[in-house]
Amino acid sequence: MPELPEVETIVRDLRPRAVGRTFTGFQALTAAPTPVRDMTPEQLDAALRGRRIESIERRGKYLLFALSGGLTLVAHLRMTGALLHRRPTDDADAYTRAVLSLDDDTELRFADLRRFGTLRLVEDATQALGRLGVEPLGPEFTAERLARLAGTRTSAPVKSFLMDQAVAAGMGNIYADEALFAARIDPRRAAASLKKAELKRLHGAIRAVLEQGVANRGVSFRNYRDVAGNSGSNQYFVAVFRRTGQPCDVCGMAIERVKLGGRSTHFCPRCQR
Ligand SMILES: [Zn+2]
Repeated sequence: MPELPEVETIVRDLRPRAVGRTFTGFQALTAAPTPVRDMTPEQLDAALRGRRIESIERRGKYLLFALSGGLTLVAHLRMTGALLHRRPTDDADAYTRAVLSLDDDTELRFADLRRFGTLRLVEDATQALGRLGVEPLGPEFTAERLARLAGTRTSAPVKSFLMDQAVAAGMGNIYADEALFAARIDPRRAAASLKKAELKRLHGAIRAVLEQGVANRGVSFRNYRDVAGNSGSNQYFVAVFRRTGQPCDVCGMAIERVKLGGRSTHFCPRCQR
């Protein structure tokens, strides 16, 4: 699923293309279930028409379109969602569920194979965001904060702890596995068992793997695409994720996979303690 680096890539690409543009319509394609929440597609169409996009921001894995008149369009891509910036005359994109038209004769196509992605128009964006922690690439995310939160999770595996959006907003399965490898920490260990030096390493590793993900324009194992429909390249740089049975780059041991909290977790049994 798109995690922080993938959504950040989409937001950065969308800004020069869509900020300052005005929505001229919204259409949910009848063949597919609508991603619109809390209102009908017709209501969203009427509410969006004539509204200018003032800014586009990311919070966790959410995209926030701040609109004229004080409303915010909140998009979440979930498992397989994509926002593609196209002209109406461009070839159709597979799994397009909805189209947001802009006043420069372009459109944003919401394509989503698995259909879990959502669009929600709200007065107060925090209503739509759920319980989100601080941004892991922002100044509030410190090693001390991470240590404080870890100390409250007595038995939760550190992998599951990192997946909690209230700990580091935007972290997901891929970057949690990569951060734990970079910090040389066994993902099965209880979060509360981590020593101060380990938490410091983990804090630095979280930032490093997310920054690398952004620099490589995201990771494309299956469905992730940027606004132009192109893949990211971070899958060529991962150390453990989906490398089960392949040799660890550091020590040569075979990468192992276990299930933690229902999620596939990849790690090196020799490097990660
Ligand atoms: Zn290793």
